[in-house]
Amino acid sequence: AVRIGVVAVQGNVSEHVTAIERAAAATGYDADVVEIRESGTVPECDALALPGGESTTISQLLAREGIDEEIVAHAEAGKPILATCAGLIVASRDAQDDRVETLDILDVAVDRNAFGRQVDSFEAGLDVRGLDDPFHAVFIRAPAVDDVGDGVEVLASWDDRPVAVRDGPVLATAFHPELTDDYRLHRLALFDRLPVEA
Ligand code: GLN
Repeated sequence: AVRIGVVAVQGNVSEHVTAIERAAAATGYDADVVEIRESGTVPECDALALPGGESTTISQLLAREGIDEEIVAHAEAGKPILATCAGLIVASRDAQDDRVETLDILDVAVDRNAFGRQVDSFEAGLDVRGLDDPFHAVFIRAPAVDDVGDGVEVLASWDDRPVAVRDGPVLATAFHPELTDDYRLHRLALFDRLPVEA
């Protein structure tokens, strides 16, 4: 079985667990999905989800528990990570906010509440590179990507701003793919990139 970790210090954890279990079933993988609240588990994981929530809180808890360095090592080893919303902010190079200590595994700068200042939440049908049909994207106080590094591929944009990006093993979305029944992005980010076949 492959082991997929959901970083569970704060935020939308159970929805990711469900989405990953469904994506695993669809791809034929036998997956153990584990919730991560302390150090020691990330090194045993083949892939990780870094959920949304509150990026200032998540980054502080990751540092306090010593999970931050483990996630960086996981990314440096080329193992897949799906980061969503606050997870994207935490993964970024620069959150443009001193209260967020970023992991710098995703070469983008982020505008933390880019859309939130205008409207708290919205939904949109997004064309996403790598998916055949539009993805129904739920945005909640969503960040936008401001500045994209050379190695970063933009997978989707909204309002001329990147909202889904990929940097090597890290796929990140400003929206919440775990809040719909559509697990295609979990599949694309996690299972389609595993080095071992189902
Ligand atoms: N705006 C939040 C933050 O900065 C993210 C919101 C979310 O994850 N839904 O952490």
